[in-house]
Amino acid sequence: MKKDTILYFVIIALLLISCQSATSPTADIPVDEETTGQEPTQAAAPEAEMADPAALAADSWQWISFTNPVEQFDVEMPENYILSFSEDGTLNILADCNNASGTYATEGSSLTIEIGPMTMAACPPDSRSDQFVQLLTGAAIYFFEGEDLYIDLMADGGTMAFAPASQDTTVIPTADPAVLHLAGTYRFHPGVAEENFDYILILNQDGTAELDEVPVGSENISQQDAAGTWHPTDDGQGIIFDIQTILGQAAQNEEFIHFTFLDNLPIVSEISVNDQFVHLEDGVFTLGSGDTGPLVGELNRRLAALEYLGFTDPMDDTYGEETRQAVMSFQASQGLPASGVLDARTWVLLDNPQPPLPTPTPAEPITGVPNIDDLPAETEDGRPIVYLTFDDGPDPNNTPQLLDLLDQHQALVTFFNVGNEVETWPDLVRDSATRGHYIADHTWDHHSLEGMTAEQFIQEADRTRDAIIAAAGDLFTLDRNVRYLRPPYGATDANTFQYAFQEGFAIVLWTIDPQDWRRPGADVIANHVLEHVYPGAIILSHDGGGDRSQTIEAYRSILPALQEQGYVFRTIFFP
Ligand SMILES: [Zn+2]
Repeated sequence: MKKDTILYFVIIALLLISCQSATSPTADIPVDEETTGQEPTQAAAPEAEMADPAALAADSWQWISFTNPVEQFDVEMPENYILSFSEDGTLNILADCNNASGTYATEGSSLTIEIGPMTMAACPPDSRSDQFVQLLTGAAIYFFEGEDLYIDLMADGGTMAFAPASQDTTVIPTADPAVLHLAGTYRFHPGVAEENFDYILILNQDGTAELDEVPVGSENISQQDAAGTWHPTDDGQGIIFDIQTILGQAAQNEEFIHFTFLDNLPIVSEISVNDQFVHLEDGVFTLGSGDTGPLVGELNRRLAALEYLGFTDPMDDTYGEETRQAVMSFQASQGLPASGVLDARTWVLLDNPQPPLPTPTPAEPITGVPNIDDLPAETEDGRPIVYLTFDDGPDPNNTPQLLDLLDQHQALVTFFNVGNEVETWPDLVRDSATRGHYIADHTWDHHSLEGMTAEQFIQEADRTRDAIIAAAGDLFTLDRNVRYLRPPYGATDANTFQYAFQEGFAIVLWTIDPQDWRRPGADVIANHVLEHVYPGAIILSHDGGGDRSQTIEAYRSILPALQEQGYVFRTIFFP
């Protein structure tokens, strides 16, 4: 404590002396210009610890704040001003446009820095970067408080505070003059699994580098994805990008990306992780099913480390189905397209995974079999409802005409589709569902369900349901299941209802049958419907299975006539 106290007074004395003689060297590094004779309002901490030359070289130091006797400012991130003292007495300074090196010496708490020739590559005159280097030059005293290093500047009486930089932060070399012509900004397309994104590789003249991802067509780099340094390869044909930070955090592994240049565009030709290399044949970095090797082993280890993936490291360095599934889950958790192929973007995120996005929970399927007897006959405001149903489609000739006609009358209807037609005409199913109609099940190939085994029933009904969901399941916002089944010909036996119940289907028949499939004439069909209709009626019609022009013609009169009577047209599904 006694030594600390002495040091404290030494610091105060030095501050006072230097304040009286200091001139303001900069506009960018604020220093007080009216401190003469003024008492310092902020002094070095009394808990300051002794100077320790060994501690100087124990880490690199990131500049975090600057304090002069009356004011303080924090260094705004992400500026990266870093001091590195080597045990051999040399010193490196990383600033944003001006990296410098030199020597330093300590004696007690005094620190003397001498800077060698500086690289002025891209610094504007009087830049903050230059000022930072110049302020450090000369005599100072230093001390530690907690983990932080403080340097009191003889030059202007300010105190610079530095926090230990991460182990991964190393002094960035200046780019080799022989390859300075490669410095620049490159935009390229990273690979098959990233078709919506470009990469931007920025090679700065000061030897720093950055790799970012942007949506195709966008110029906006929203975040710094990977940053580090670059240097030429031995053969001078490309560059090595040494990744030091990923999304602003220190990289957890030693990672290098080797870019070669083809037609002045960078191509990823090799990646090494912790001294394990993968060579890329086609200039695109991807790993996928069947790949083997140490990088796959590293991939498996990383996937296994993410508990939420539930993935176990197979320990055999192979990219098998389990790996593919885990890659897909990881990609989904990071908001990437779940391709199952490891690309550069996925790899970068694996090194520094973001918290998993919440898994989108699919809309809860409504369980149980709907009770078709509960179909309301009237709307809540008392208007009569009629349920129009159309079987045997979709059909490329009839269905589109019918859809347009229904639109003209704001009529929503239920289609009982045949599975093999759904498979053939999925776009018609989508179109119908998009317009708000409900798609239900009319078996796979219009076989009578009478006499079927459970297996046959499932083949007919469930396969059709799967086809409908595949075609338009995402449009079923209220009911992700296809829960209504109409048996062809209305034919059932004792087992049909049991099978239907087990598979979650309600059997839906009809209450009015105009026999439109016999093509008795449009007026006969229309008259039959209009003579028999009542609130809550389910009307059977067909938009598939042949020429349905009579049916469509009949509805050209049925729809306006029913509307005139106040009817509204609803689907049989109701939440
Ligand atoms: Zn039918």
